Amino acid sequence: MENFEALGLSQPLLDGLAEMGFETPTEIQQQSIPILLKHDGDFIGLAQTGTGKTAAFGLPLLDLIDINSRETQALILAPTRELAQQICGQMEQMSQKMGKLNVVPVFGGANIMTQIREIRRGAQIVVATPGRLMDLMKRKEVNLDSLKFMVLDEADEMLNMGFKEDIDFILSKSDGGRRIWLFSATMAREIKRIVDTYMVQPEEVRVNQENIVNTNIEHQSVQLKASDKTEALRRYLDYHEDMFGVVFCRTKRDTQKVADELNNNGYATEALHGDMSQAQRDAAMKRFRDKNLKLLIATDVAARGIDVDDITHVIHFALPDDPEFYAHRSGRTARAGKKGVSLALITKGDNRKLKYIASKLGINFAPAEVPALDAITEKRISRWSDNLKNQEVNPKISDELMTSVVERLEDISKEDLIAKLLTKEYNSIYKRNSIKDVNDRSKGRDDDRGGRGERGGRDRGRKNDRGKEEGMKTYFINLGRKDNINKGALLGYVCDVTGLTGDDIGRIVLDGAHSFMDVKEEVASQMLKVNGTQRDGRELRVDEHHGKVTESRDRGGRSGGFKGKRDGGGFKGRRSDGDSGGGFKGRRSNGDFGSAPRSGGFKGRSTKTTDSDAGRDRSSSKGGKKGSGRSKFFGKKWD
Ligand code: AMP
Repeated sequence: MENFEALGLSQPLLDGLAEMGFETPTEIQQQSIPILLKHDGDFIGLAQTGTGKTAAFGLPLLDLIDINSRETQALILAPTRELAQQICGQMEQMSQKMGKLNVVPVFGGANIMTQIREIRRGAQIVVATPGRLMDLMKRKEVNLDSLKFMVLDEADEMLNMGFKEDIDFILSKSDGGRRIWLFSATMAREIKRIVDTYMVQPEEVRVNQENIVNTNIEHQSVQLKASDKTEALRRYLDYHEDMFGVVFCRTKRDTQKVADELNNNGYATEALHGDMSQAQRDAAMKRFRDKNLKLLIATDVAARGIDVDDITHVIHFALPDDPEFYAHRSGRTARAGKKGVSLALITKGDNRKLKYIASKLGINFAPAEVPALDAITEKRISRWSDNLKNQEVNPKISDELMTSVVERLEDISKEDLIAKLLTKEYNSIYKRNSIKDVNDRSKGRDDDRGGRGERGGRDRGRKNDRGKEEGMKTYFINLGRKDNINKGALLGYVCDVTGLTGDDIGRIVLDGAHSFMDVKEEVASQMLKVNGTQRDGRELRVDEHHGKVTESRDRGGRSGGFKGKRDGGGFKGRRSDGDSGGGFKGRRSNGDFGSAPRSGGFKGRSTKTTDSDAGRDRSSSKGGKKGSGRSKFFGKKWD
């Protein structure tokens, strides 16, 4: 593994990186930096967000610009205000040992005059959202005479957001011999067009084209009612005697509830969540590591450090909103070359989210079924009879004891004896499980926009007042993204205050200053408990909402933090061709979810297609950035 020194960067940059704690270049950095430093033509970098792209172009850019000139030498285009700000922050940090450098962010929704003044003071690097840059170019406030570099960051995302014309304008008006460095997660058709139209024989680097989601993992989904999920876990535990797994829940409360329910029914499980003391968590982990537990029931955050081998199953009691969370969760299984199953317990309304995750990660979910009681019984009984047959007779049993028991049972035929023994085992199975078929075989709603966090691809940012499930009420909450909260945190807060569980709550729509939450009618009044509570010194208010639920284009700020799993200091981003078709592939697995065969079936199409009707003010203060889920995991913020 190379270090930053070996990439040919100057000493001040290396010193800056050391200050930042960047020790090992990520894959995209390793591959791109030497090319960008030497090659004086155009460049394409294909890598996912969160793989370290900012430094991949930022470091060579900083080494190649003339710090003594105040002319604008580089323009960096980014899809959102947050990303633009984040890039600026990182450029400033990386250049901290270089001397005076002016990196100016410009984006819509903020005072253009202030930005103009900043640029006039001499900005060697301007980081801009396309709409605002186009404005500034039309006003001739960005002087492109000395432009040497044009960086398009997250180019596919900019196109998805409808910046096509703006980008065409910017690229066509800035053609004065500048080099174009284009970074994108995918080589979508529109990107190809930009490459063909504006770039000259670009060098290309692709990283992480392979799936971050380990191919040894079999992804399965099973559709059932929310109220049957714990029963489903029991069935799986009964069916798969050797199950050793992690179950992921969305809230601490759900985590504890599921663990308690399973424990009360005699299954060795423990919860792992943030409300437990460190000692309790250590004890739970020890029991799990020692394989004294069948299942560990955890929240995403609590399960972050789990590096236990031989996990056979990861079960998503509730699907995460963010595909990246799914990838992280499922990565707990199939380690060290072993096989593993990642099973999503979904309700009908989750189907769209499932497809979104599949499409984003380039995986297929094989539809599975909760094992039927008959199948469990058959398997358990055959195991039981084998065990009985193979049972070594304990030599300590005395002849007297044996004779006395034989005498007591002498009236019973062999068949009756077996039937009686069998009954004990049989009853224990039926005592723990209900006999009903817990599989929900009704058709999932492909066009359902109801599930939480399901907005992906082209639906993102649309005004949307659909999606409320039947039997739910909608509540307004005066808490939004500006309050530094994401859907998971909002859900957690509401559940903690109200006593509701994740299953009681449906759609969550998070906007800038407020949010909407759908709650099951029968428990909806609990929501009022949120009224008057304080969060970060702010008094909260909830009201039942009868009007439309609209959502601005605010999709959450981008915060830094690692994305992808560290692998010896570098990154493993997730599959970068996120728009390759995902969706279902496979047939029912008849309960044996360890070996669900796959064959044809629905092949989903990417949700990441061009957002043709995206609003125009994409760089406004409400602009957001997909993938903010990273911060939820890693919480490292730049701006
Ligand atoms: P990016 O893809 O540029 O948004 O980077 C994702 C996150 O990884 C950011 O928080 C960066 O600060 C961090 N990062 C990027 N490169 C490295 C590196 N070589 N070592 C440590 N952290 C890094």
